[in-house]
Amino acid sequence: MRIVFLGPPGAGKGTQAVRLAKHLGIVHLSTGDMLRQAAAAETPVGLQSQTYLAAGKLVPDAVMLDLVRERLVKDDCARGYLLDGFPRTLGQAQALDEMLGQLGTRLSAVVELQLDVEEIIRRLAARGREDDRPEVIRERLEQYSRQTAPLSDYYRRQGLLHPVDGGGTPDDVFRRIRALVEPLARQ
Ligand code: AMP
Repeated sequence: MRIVFLGPPGAGKGTQAVRLAKHLGIVHLSTGDMLRQAAAAETPVGLQSQTYLAAGKLVPDAVMLDLVRERLVKDDCARGYLLDGFPRTLGQAQALDEMLGQLGTRLSAVVELQLDVEEIIRRLAARGREDDRPEVIRERLEQYSRQTAPLSDYYRRQGLLHPVDGGGTPDDVFRRIRALVEPLARQ
């Protein structure tokens, strides 16, 4: 399966993505993790991205597309993958469709984790990551609603969007995601 995970920062996307990828035996691809690793290793992409990450701004599409394109053609992606944190703009979503078209595949499903803004802020404040400071949180939420939220419509129109309630415990949320994805995996 090829799955995209959507959801605002703090909705539990990372936790659920890792768990679902493991459950389905597919690769978990977090572009945030890839960028943080690149930044730590001081690769050209990492150095280019550092200031965006620290400010909670989106890294330019061209950089992201190169990074993802390179990764998706690796052998371990042949059995499927779960994209966590990509696409984040309409441009990225369109480019991903094109990329998949060239590879002769398409997405299987888009899972959107939904959560109230108060709960998001509460969870982010408890997390304590480098970019979880209040002013950076605000910027990341702003980027999400401006740049990434329109992707729901984009995928709804393609019949791929599956909203999931992100409230409750991680186990509650995972149960909902499984109930949704397992029938699709059998198709
Ligand atoms: P995340 O771990 O998914 O919250 O991503 C952390 C940071 O990495 C974001 O705030 C962005 O600066 C950058 N980033 C991750 N994925 C993308 C993407 N698809 N497009 C642009 N920037 C991204």
